[in-house]
Amino acid sequence: MRADLSAVLYDEDEIAAKINELAVRIDQDYEGKDLLMVGILNGAVMVMADLSRALRNHCEMDWMAISSYGSGVASSGVVRILKDMNTSIVDRHVLIVEDIVDTGLTLSYLIENLRSRNPASIEVCAGFRKPEAARNRRVDVKYLGFDIPSDFVVGYGLDYAGRYRNLRGLGILDPKVYS
Ligand code: 5GP
Repeated sequence: MRADLSAVLYDEDEIAAKINELAVRIDQDYEGKDLLMVGILNGAVMVMADLSRALRNHCEMDWMAISSYGSGVASSGVVRILKDMNTSIVDRHVLIVEDIVDTGLTLSYLIENLRSRNPASIEVCAGFRKPEAARNRRVDVKYLGFDIPSDFVVGYGLDYAGRYRNLRGLGILDPKVYS
């Protein structure tokens, strides 16, 4: 697997340190509140697993699966809910846990959808953010792991054709793999 990367951006230890920092902030910010973390399948599985276990306080976890409508590789921003969560979010403090924000279109749709369900609050935690999302700020990522370049990355939950999710670090996939 490692041989298919043209560069490692963050190794396991760097990611763990960042996740622990985020957990400290989340513990502080949600002190005395009932936190519901909603992970977006499949990519957010690793962030969710590590972040939730780094928290000192209670949290509940639920999951959604979504897919982008439209053709092509670019996100269209029109999102179909493939699996909804099992929990009602009315009056709940919701933290969306996402793997990576590229254009922010997927998340902005999702936030709009979840807002209409009347949660007490809604915030976003994402492992990684690409320059486009950093520029357009379509989505306010309150808890961000790392700003990364616009290259196609894999590992730490992120896949290419279903593979590489189980890499412990995050790396740039060598274009020779998909060209
Ligand atoms: P957005 O709607 O923000 O443009 O797209 C976000 C989604 O695109 C992510 O949840 C992820 O599924 C996918 N994505 C964006 N960039 C990458 C990348 O570099 N690698 C992988 N594996 N998926 C990506």
